[in-house]
Amino acid sequence: MSSVIQLRNLQKVFGQTRAIDDVSLDIQENEFFAMLGPSGCGKTTLLRTIAGFESPDHGKVLLSGEDITPLRPNKRSINLMFQSYALFPHMSVAKNIAYGLEMEDLTKQEIQRRVADVMDMAHLHEFANRRPDQLSGGQRQRVALARALVKRPKVLLLDEPLGALDKKLREQMQLELKRLQSEAGITFVMVTHDQEEALVMADRIALMKDGRVAQLGSPKELYEQPNSRFVADFIGSMNFFDGTISGDRITLKNGTQLSGVVTADDMNHGTLAVRPERICLHREIPQDADNRIQGVIEDIAYHGQDLSVHVAVANDAQRKLARISATLAEEQELKLGESVWCSWTSQHGRLLGA
Ligand code: ATP
Repeated sequence: MSSVIQLRNLQKVFGQTRAIDDVSLDIQENEFFAMLGPSGCGKTTLLRTIAGFESPDHGKVLLSGEDITPLRPNKRSINLMFQSYALFPHMSVAKNIAYGLEMEDLTKQEIQRRVADVMDMAHLHEFANRRPDQLSGGQRQRVALARALVKRPKVLLLDEPLGALDKKLREQMQLELKRLQSEAGITFVMVTHDQEEALVMADRIALMKDGRVAQLGSPKELYEQPNSRFVADFIGSMNFFDGTISGDRITLKNGTQLSGVVTADDMNHGTLAVRPERICLHREIPQDADNRIQGVIEDIAYHGQDLSVHVAVANDAQRKLARISATLAEEQELKLGESVWCSWTSQHGRLLGA
């Protein structure tokens, strides 16, 4: 695979804020790439820098090996889809989609053919003659996408593309957008603050913090192998057991010793991170478990297919969370106030520095 976008040591400072702090990234051809992170981490600034709406103080943006840093946005084979969609209210769907092509030197037939092609792809034919205000949010989103795709950019940048949609529609559109991306064979770079959206849609994710890439990897890598407490905490739910680390063991304040996968050298103080779905609950002490800790059930939340069981552990202000299936919960008949043991295998705990 070859890189379509290469970012080299990008830096952008606004007053006292380092919005982008020495970012280098390679985005591959036909990749669905997500830039994820909390508010203010610099993801929008990075997207706007790729589009050419911000110029970096330092560093380069390369498109298919060519340095495009000095080029204006309209001179880049990159399209940015805005969150507001920016559709023309007085034009039909077909005209909205054709608009961008009419600026180009194309025959009328060629324009019609390309508009028809993307309307097929985005399932928009039946709405061709409607105006944007006669469409639902999801349909408007598809028109905006079709309008961006019809220009056949090498790269399409999407800023919180599903932000305006309600939860159910958003979940539907996540899969739709992924389908459109793979059918169109175009590289998508999406900015989102929604970790679930990034996990579902992206091939790779750059999780950002304070203008830097905290971790880059596939959704599975970020979820299963977080390299810092920040990443472990940002993606999904996580239990943390804080203490003093020595080798592959951590000693908690209450003296309990636990073991996990070592992720860095020279860790001293730190934490053991364990996903709630990796924790098993027992009434009797699990003698053979790699790791075990006792606590009291303080809360049980029902989610349908599974349950969240919150367990308070002595000398630890943070309650621990176990996620167990509804079937198992029925068998175990867990009750509030009950004393239980939590256990998990060492391979499912990661030792992370402070
Ligand atoms: P959000 O999810 O809230 O949109 P973000 O991760 O996209 O956040 P950016 O919009 O890239 O973050 O902003 C990064 C930092 O740079 C923030 O601290 C922001 O206040 C600052 N910033 C962005 N644009 C400007 C600007 N034009 N002038 C001054 N500061 C700016």
